[in-house]
Amino acid sequence: MTVHHTAAVLSPNSQAPARVRQHQRFHIDDRGWADLAYHFIVDANGHVYEGRPVSAVGDTGTNYDPTGHFLVCAEGDFNKQAIPAAQVAAMADVLAWGAATFGVAASTIRGHRDWASTSCPGDGFYPLISDGSLQSAVEDRVAAGAPSLSVLCGDAATQRVADIEAGRI
Ligand SMILES: [Zn+2]
Repeated sequence: MTVHHTAAVLSPNSQAPARVRQHQRFHIDDRGWADLAYHFIVDANGHVYEGRPVSAVGDTGTNYDPTGHFLVCAEGDFNKQAIPAAQVAAMADVLAWGAATFGVAASTIRGHRDWASTSCPGDGFYPLISDGSLQSAVEDRVAAGAPSLSVLCGDAATQRVADIEAGRI
């Protein structure tokens, strides 16, 4: 399970849905990939956005093979900003869901920089990976039964995005 950041400062969080669309367009139009490179993206307030299907191998502009990797990306540039607690908690939720769903140990959590020449996911986030605290948070969640994942569609999804964009949540 490999953790990334988008390397684009997110502020305020109301911009998050537009940023996710922007990353998707960039990955498809400029990179020539099939979809957003990652399986999930998490914003600063802990909202989780679905990227490419988990059944599809991710993509990367760096020199590692993401085949078999569950790719979760935090929206923001953590070389320039601190990662909010709500975002870390949601990252742990998504990783715990992945660990439980696919039978993968939390000890497999790594930062992108562990696989390729990049600073991703940033000096403000990577220490939580290297010191094992993110792994511990994921293990606690898996032990407690792991979070469920429900995908919002249609009106419910439209309303959720509108609430995020209006800064209500
Ligand atoms: Zn990365």
